[in-house]
Amino acid sequence: ELPPIDGDFYDIYHTLSPEQREIQLKVRAFMEKEVKPLVNHYWLRDEFPHELIPKFQKLNICGVTYEGYGCPGMPFLMEGVIAMEMARIDASIATFFGVQSGLAMGSIYICGSEEQKQKWLPQMQKFEKIGAFGLTEPEVGSGAAGGLTVTCKKTPEGWILNGQKKWIGNATFADIIIIWARDLDDGEVKGFIVEKDNPGYSVEKIKGKMALRIVQNGLITLKDCLVTEENRLQHANSFKDTGKVLRMTRAGVAWMATGCARGAYESALDYTRKREQFGKPIASFQMIQGHLVEMLSNLTAMQTMVFRLSEMQDEGILKDEHASLAKVFCTLRTRDIVSRAREVLGGNGILLEYDVARFVADAEAIYSYEGTKEINSLIVGRSITGFSAFI
Ligand code: FAD
Repeated sequence: ELPPIDGDFYDIYHTLSPEQREIQLKVRAFMEKEVKPLVNHYWLRDEFPHELIPKFQKLNICGVTYEGYGCPGMPFLMEGVIAMEMARIDASIATFFGVQSGLAMGSIYICGSEEQKQKWLPQMQKFEKIGAFGLTEPEVGSGAAGGLTVTCKKTPEGWILNGQKKWIGNATFADIIIIWARDLDDGEVKGFIVEKDNPGYSVEKIKGKMALRIVQNGLITLKDCLVTEENRLQHANSFKDTGKVLRMTRAGVAWMATGCARGAYESALDYTRKREQFGKPIASFQMIQGHLVEMLSNLTAMQTMVFRLSEMQDEGILKDEHASLAKVFCTLRTRDIVSRAREVLGGNGILLEYDVARFVADAEAIYSYEGTKEINSLIVGRSITGFSAFI
């Protein structure tokens, strides 16, 4: 009788309440039963499994931490646990959910007026409206804080937006897209709820990705796109407000990396116990065990780190540098874990049907989005040294 396969070696989640534990297991069951059988098929075809959306609706977890508007109002810790459980099976699906529930709904929750929240959040909570978040541009990624080139200008008819946004997750099928643009009059960054049928809005799918292929990223073009004042986020007055949304979601990305690493570790452990060479399971070889233990030690450190990170968020003491440190550490360690998983699978490590190959590829995107290693390191560096390397 072999011991159970479990990437939670320190029983980290034992402090969750019975109700929270139930939600964790509900998400796990959903991911294993409904999502896992589909993902390799869709990943290979570079398509999104739209048939999952009504099932997501039934889970009733969207808008995890928000109070009111039909949202569950759970602690940030649960947002992290849910992201981990999703990414443990598939990082693309976790990203789809993170864009909808975190970045898009979060922009409205944090920067919207009461009327805007009442109008959009209940529909988004039920996935009746799908959201996207457009910050990055073709020529502006890491430097978004000072460098946005998409412009907005107020006219008697409404706001006119011009420019392009690149990499925007869910954009090809989103109903509403949060667009961050620089005001030509006062130079400040403002946020808009752009509806897909707004005149002057168009989107093109980004093809040929080798990571997170299920996520439908779009290149958005805004050509004299007209947006009403009613759809301008009323409390987004500068990039500082955009930053509030990113601060809230970055912790979730560290959790997502952790889930991806956990999925790869558990797949690898399972494989090494079944695969035999030289008449024995390869899990009995010392060098294979060395890899597995190295993976588990990093995974345990990551889970402990993100757990505390979310507790800090719930305590209201989370700062940008705390989330950045976890994003850097967890995405770096994830790259190491998935590559060891790929190694112990031998040739099967590069075959999609064994799942690990997908984790290896997807880890590359998580490594880069929501701030690269360099950018998040510089946020931590600024906080511990007192010197900013950005200027
Ligand atoms: P660049 O900024 O061009 O950076 C290139 C390299 O230079 C990196 O290694 C970077 O770390 C380094 N570098 C840059 N500045 C410095 C510096 N000052 N010091 C040291 N090194 C530096 N964006 C959205 O708005 N919405 C989305 O939904 C979204 N989804 C995404 C999904 C995927 C799959 C991917 C890959 C990206 C997504 N992004 C999204 C964009 C993502 O946030 C950016 O890719 C990321 O911020 C990095 O920007 P960049 O790719 O332009 O790289």
